[in-house]
Amino acid sequence: MDNSTSTAPRESLKTLPGDDVRQIMWRYADRYDLQMLVQSTRGVARGLVARLVAQGARNSHEWTPEKNALLKAYDEAGITTCFMDPHQGGFIEGPKNLVLALVALELSWVDAGAATGSLAGNLALSPIHERGTPEQRDRYMSRCVPPQPGENRPVWRGAFSLTEPLPYAGVETGLLCGKVRIADWKEGGEPMLQVDKRARFITNIAFANFSTVAVDTDDPRIKSSCMVILEETDPGVFDRGTPTHKMVHQLSSTQDPSFAMTVPASRIVGGYTVKDGCIVPNFSHGEIIEAVFRRTRVTVGVMTASKLLSAVEPVIRYQRNRFRGAASVSPGTPRHDLGLQQKEDCLQRLIDVWATGEAAASLGLATARLFDQLDPLEKIKEKRFQEQGIVGGMAQMKAFRAIAKQALEFIALEAKPAAGRDAARYEALKADPLVRYLILDSQANVLCPATKLWNTGHGATVMREAVSLMGGYGITEDCPGFLGHKWMDSQLEATYEGPEAVQRRQISVTMTSEVFLAIVRSWTSELRAIAAARPELGAGALAGAFDLWLWTLQHLQTAKDADGAKLLSGNRHGVVFPLADALCWLVASRFQMLDVIELAEKGSQNPVVAEGLAGYVNFFSDLAAVQAASAAGEASRICAELAYGFNAPAAGGAAPAALEPFAGLRANVDASLAGSRLAKDRAADALTAVMIPEALDYPA
Ligand SMILES: Cc1cc2nc3c(=O)[nH]c(=O)nc-3n(C[C@H](O)[C@H](O)[C@H](O)COP(=O)(O)OP(=O)(O)OC[C@H]3O[C@@H](n4cnc5c(N)ncnc54)[C@H](O)[C@@H]3O)c2cc1C
Repeated sequence: MDNSTSTAPRESLKTLPGDDVRQIMWRYADRYDLQMLVQSTRGVARGLVARLVAQGARNSHEWTPEKNALLKAYDEAGITTCFMDPHQGGFIEGPKNLVLALVALELSWVDAGAATGSLAGNLALSPIHERGTPEQRDRYMSRCVPPQPGENRPVWRGAFSLTEPLPYAGVETGLLCGKVRIADWKEGGEPMLQVDKRARFITNIAFANFSTVAVDTDDPRIKSSCMVILEETDPGVFDRGTPTHKMVHQLSSTQDPSFAMTVPASRIVGGYTVKDGCIVPNFSHGEIIEAVFRRTRVTVGVMTASKLLSAVEPVIRYQRNRFRGAASVSPGTPRHDLGLQQKEDCLQRLIDVWATGEAAASLGLATARLFDQLDPLEKIKEKRFQEQGIVGGMAQMKAFRAIAKQALEFIALEAKPAAGRDAARYEALKADPLVRYLILDSQANVLCPATKLWNTGHGATVMREAVSLMGGYGITEDCPGFLGHKWMDSQLEATYEGPEAVQRRQISVTMTSEVFLAIVRSWTSELRAIAAARPELGAGALAGAFDLWLWTLQHLQTAKDADGAKLLSGNRHGVVFPLADALCWLVASRFQMLDVIELAEKGSQNPVVAEGLAGYVNFFSDLAAVQAASAAGEASRICAELAYGFNAPAAGGAAPAALEPFAGLRANVDASLAGSRLAKDRAADALTAVMIPEALDYPA
């Protein structure tokens, strides 16, 4: 009997994953435009950005000439323009969610403040991009494009002003003190608006030429709140305020501006109609903010993911070099060659950091890609609804009730083997853009806040682990990879564009949609199939944890607490928020697995990747299994607290009969953790052998 294959050592990671591997996992192997942009962004990040951090530019709150040089570097690298469409002066066709996510990933690999500065310009444009009139879009998007050769004009920069001084708008975005009223309205002419707004913590305002500001109506002749575009040269006050004394992201500018300006009503984002002598904005500020944040929050989540992944190489190098040079530590001895990597804990903790970074990046980038699919469908939906006279949130919600039935039918058909389903019906539903829209939208509504919440919130906690692995160096400015800065910065990523409570609140509403729950059920079947084909990924544990989560949700929907009060309700944060947290762990782990499978299936098509493919796949599978075990364990713990925790304590600790199915499902999850610690042992071992460059490639 030939047993040579069974005795061959299992291949493992030889070098850290490079661009070829990432392009496959993150699905841009066929996007040459993105690959080029990633390279040019990396040049800025590991060049100018890294030098600024190393030279101590983070030690000042002011927007200095040195920091201002970043803007030019962004312009030259295509970072400023990648958000625009080609007819506005951009160079990338189609939706830009993945584009922006990859730019953020590259910049925050070195410094998230630099990434934030670049993204805040897009954030200022986003209200105009998402809901602006065509004229507004073309005016502002094209002015924000740097001048082309032969052109002599300044490039405009923008700031997004929503947040206000205490006690006004923050998490509660409806509580606006900023006001708009009609200053002058000549017969037959365009109304002139008086806009008064004080804002807090506004990024890029030190140099912005315009700001999109959220204001409430202070005039019976303006029917709702809105967003208005203010330009620095408009009549009135455009006071940029003084710098915020922030402890993080010092490579972006943040100040508390105030505005008192007169502008034409054509600056209302999205336009307006006149009805009975009143201005009716086409969009309230709330509607615009919702459309904006649902995309931009994904990018923020990717930033923290990037920082976790960026920690791997500096920590490995630190561990290996830790004792080299000591008189008693001779080259060739384990203490010299492995250093701290002789210690299992050092290795296994780094595996946790790496696995979390992988899951976070997979979740964030998958969500960005999902929005790329959703964007064109959203435009079709808006057009169809407009043609059918379905306008306004309520009317659309009603229309979607009928479409939801078709979406559920499609999901059920898709779960059946192709031979056993009504092919004509399946194809008809698949071709329906509204059905496709609803299926993607139901996921986007959960995945966007999940990315923001889990990547940044849990990511910040895990970033602390990375810092701790560098010992005292971790909390110095000189820490290789700037890990201390990155840890602290993560807390801002968890805060801005809506802190964790905002994301939990949104997930707690969207996770109970019928269509989303049907999709989750289809995910569990998919994971069971993966577990059968590739048991090494840990998909069985994840499938079991999803089952447990679904059971717990259903239980909480009808169960009452020991005092007879309803459990699952929006205001009962102690119930719905942890349930949202549990879901985030699970979805992140699922997307991580899918990326490993993509690599396993497509890796051989790239000759560079093909060479070490088995090692990469084995290692990433181990990381996926480690993360699946953590995710399943965390979700099970949360679900158990929710299922049992609201019952009165029973003498002798007997569990209520209603929870017997829960106990069975949880036992399944526990049993399916088999192998997960072996995976961690293997992954940790791989860290001792993986080759890394002699020195970090930044600061250059
Ligand atoms: C460096 C920096 C840059 C920023 N850039 C911008 C910018 O460019 N433009 C802009 O408009 N804003 C910007 N912000 C503002 C940022 O978005 C807000 O700080 C953030 O949304 C939170 O608002 P807040 O600080 O008022 O917190 P609060 O509203 O006071 O909330 C504080 C905490 O209370 C709890 N909480 C509050 N409300 C609820 C609730 N309903 N349910 C449950 N818990 C709740 C949460 O734990 C929350 O984290 C920036 C902030 C910083 C620090």
